[in-house]
Amino acid sequence: MRGFAGEGGHVSARHVVIAGYGMAGARLADEIRRRDPEAERVRLTVLGAEAHPAYNRVLLSTVVAGGLSPEAVRLHDDEWAARAKVELRLGAPVTGLDRSLRRVETATGSYTYDALVLATGASPWLPPVEGLEPGPEVVAFRTLDDCRRIVDVARPGAPVAVLGGGLLGLEAARGLAGRGANVTVVHPSVHLLERQVDAAAGRVLARRLTGLGVSFRFEVTAARHLPGDGLKLDDGSFVPADLVVVAAGVRPETGLAEAAGLAVDRGILVDDLLRSSDGRIHALGDCAQHEGAPAGLVQPAWEQAAVLADLLTGSDPAARYRGTAAVTRLKARDIDLAALGEAQATGEGAEVLTLDDPSGGRYGKLVVRENRVTGAILLGLPDAAATVTQLHDRGIPVPDDRLAVLLGRALPADTATAASPAELPSSALICRCNTVTKGRLVDAWRGGATDATALVRTTRATTGCGSCRDTVGAVADWLAAQ
Ligand SMILES: Cc1cc2nc3c(=O)[nH]c(=O)nc-3n(C[C@H](O)[C@H](O)[C@H](O)COP(=O)(O)OP(=O)(O)OC[C@H]3O[C@@H](n4cnc5c(N)ncnc54)[C@H](O)[C@@H]3O)c2cc1C
Repeated sequence: MRGFAGEGGHVSARHVVIAGYGMAGARLADEIRRRDPEAERVRLTVLGAEAHPAYNRVLLSTVVAGGLSPEAVRLHDDEWAARAKVELRLGAPVTGLDRSLRRVETATGSYTYDALVLATGASPWLPPVEGLEPGPEVVAFRTLDDCRRIVDVARPGAPVAVLGGGLLGLEAARGLAGRGANVTVVHPSVHLLERQVDAAAGRVLARRLTGLGVSFRFEVTAARHLPGDGLKLDDGSFVPADLVVVAAGVRPETGLAEAAGLAVDRGILVDDLLRSSDGRIHALGDCAQHEGAPAGLVQPAWEQAAVLADLLTGSDPAARYRGTAAVTRLKARDIDLAALGEAQATGEGAEVLTLDDPSGGRYGKLVVRENRVTGAILLGLPDAAATVTQLHDRGIPVPDDRLAVLLGRALPADTATAASPAELPSSALICRCNTVTKGRLVDAWRGGATDATALVRTTRATTGCGSCRDTVGAVADWLAAQ
């Protein structure tokens, strides 16, 4: 597939249009240009609804917490499109899709495609609460603009309500409490992160966050927003709030696909070639639904981008996306939480070991089946998180001393903590967001990337959520000392 034979018999690049210039769309464009830098095989048009160049959405919690400036999370500079030979339109949402003409519409023009990629992401869900309308006092947390609005209002001492005690809500709450705001999280369930962790872990986490200045209201929902005043809850109580941050879940952005008659369930249904029910239309990232991909995470989106770039450029027609085994992490200062696999398992047919230390802010849970880790929750146990993740990822038998594993003190022969990169096996996944192993870092080093900055530039490790930065630094130090 090195282009199409046109009418005059000449070979022309196929026109790929990407609708959506977020984390998946931007990465796909990068991956296509890595394979086809001179635009010989693929002519590329990217249509983005937002007015900004693409940015790292994952790091917006860190921007809210004051750890990064909005400029620091940009994925592309102003010259990227010209350099990458991409026709880029910002502030240009795709408003229509005509499959028979193979054409998409924006307010300022239409584009005919050979292949269309929907990378339209997801939109925050606004619960049906009387008076809860997006505006300066009500912000659903998803975009860089939302982030700026939140930071503008959340001054020290300002009362802020966060609707939703999921990952996004807790990251926002921790960040805002760190800025000195008086934060109350309103959560309809009995414990935090009920989709990721069990009740005991949820309780320890709430206690830890309470110690960091966050208040909680459990098993209640907002009934009414009183602008300038706060939230009336359904039990009749009241939460004062100058600002309400809504983090109540997201819905895949499937409007275009549905209107065009593509198969949509929760997201746009795609197969292992990331094809929708129309073979010329692909989807990836948060708007897509693949049976092996966890929803709402960047790691699957970026893995899908690499596969789709192989297919669209013809670099590897056999490339397939088979799914992603994701690890959930909470990115909040002073809190280490990782959950993976069947973290909610209660013991049927499995060996379950738990360690509950509420006053120490620690909770560990190991789920073992046939001597392999199939699930875990690790709160306040970063060393154990590193070891257990290795055991889980690589299907290594669990050492007999399970408690030592949970305490981060057991180092089976071929695993190690992040602190000792020499011991890590080559296949150890260092950067999950970008799927970079220790072996890939070593290869990059041997290829000339001989400091941490060069390793990052070559492999893109650390450029997702950034939680592997220390480990990549340790690998670089270890390589430099060889
Ligand atoms: C604050 C925050 C923290 C997060 N933290 C993590 C984390 O720690 N780890 C993790 O894995 N994930 C995290 N996520 C989720 C992660 O950001 C998403 O999974 C990722 O951004 C998905 O990429 P995407 O391109 O599919 O969607 P998006 O990044 O949302 O991009 C979609 C883009 O398409 C645009 N668009 C929509 N409709 C149209 C249209 N009709 N035409 C043109 N453009 C359109 C949107 O405006 C948007 O710019 C976080 C998300 C948020 C908001």
